[in-house]
Amino acid sequence: MEIIIAKNSGLCYGVRRALKIARETRQKKTGKVCCLGDLIHNPQVIADLKEQGIQSVTNLDDLNEGRVIIRSHGVSPDTYGLLEKKDVQIVDATCPIVKKIQKLVEMLARQREEIIIVGNREHPEIKGLIGFSQGKGIIIENEAQVKRLPRKKKRAVLAQSTQDLYLLEKIVAALIEKTEELKVYNTICHSTQTRQKSTSELASRVDTLFIIGGKNSSNTNKLFQISKRILPKTYFIEKADQINFEMLKGSKKIGLSGGASTPPEAIQEAVDKIKASFKHQHHREKIVQCQR
Ligand code: SF4
Repeated sequence: MEIIIAKNSGLCYGVRRALKIARETRQKKTGKVCCLGDLIHNPQVIADLKEQGIQSVTNLDDLNEGRVIIRSHGVSPDTYGLLEKKDVQIVDATCPIVKKIQKLVEMLARQREEIIIVGNREHPEIKGLIGFSQGKGIIIENEAQVKRLPRKKKRAVLAQSTQDLYLLEKIVAALIEKTEELKVYNTICHSTQTRQKSTSELASRVDTLFIIGGKNSSNTNKLFQISKRILPKTYFIEKADQINFEMLKGSKKIGLSGGASTPPEAIQEAVDKIKASFKHQHHREKIVQCQR
């Protein structure tokens, strides 16, 4: 049995940076430290941050003192405005790559372009980006939605930083049929693209693949879809204890990959669980053979 971990899996630069900023803020500053929304889409890490004294707050009305961390996904200009009116200090941990996309959206909006933003409308990054579009942004989640758009002379299209490249390509192809002049900005970040590539390569050479990460993590869900398209025996798990021998049965090569918000410990725990499970089964099989 061989266990292979996909290259580039686990925490991305932006999430690692936001975690560092949050932990340093907690260590160096007294008083309340909150994060606007969950800092990372991973329940174990959120529980750990809570223990360290960094609470997630979703309602702006609950923020009236101390420091407020803006997570890597960023927020809209309206949210910055509301926070500035409060008696709080903003600690901005927006990923610099997301900041660049926000600036691009702002620039396109000034040029009065219609901006197609390919992403999940419930995702915080998309909520932030749409805020920068000054009413010129249209969120598109799938090809079917493009079919309902009218023909237009000019448009620009860009994507959530963690978007599936395959979906972006399909949407661009559908938009070309509806637009005379289409400007395409591939804003899927390098870390996402390399992670998706490594995971799909691994899916084509293993028997079973585990995608590890929070079920609420958009990029981890996309990794799961990418792998599942290639390898039906792909499982999406949040924790190592969800792995059972049925999932591993008959597999000689087992792959593991994690999303941008999956900490390295979660991947290591899955490796240990797989090793232990095989050892246990091997031991049981020996006993059965002896009994015969
Ligand atoms: S996925 Fe990319 S853009 Fe998004 S937070 Fe991570 S490094 Fe930044």
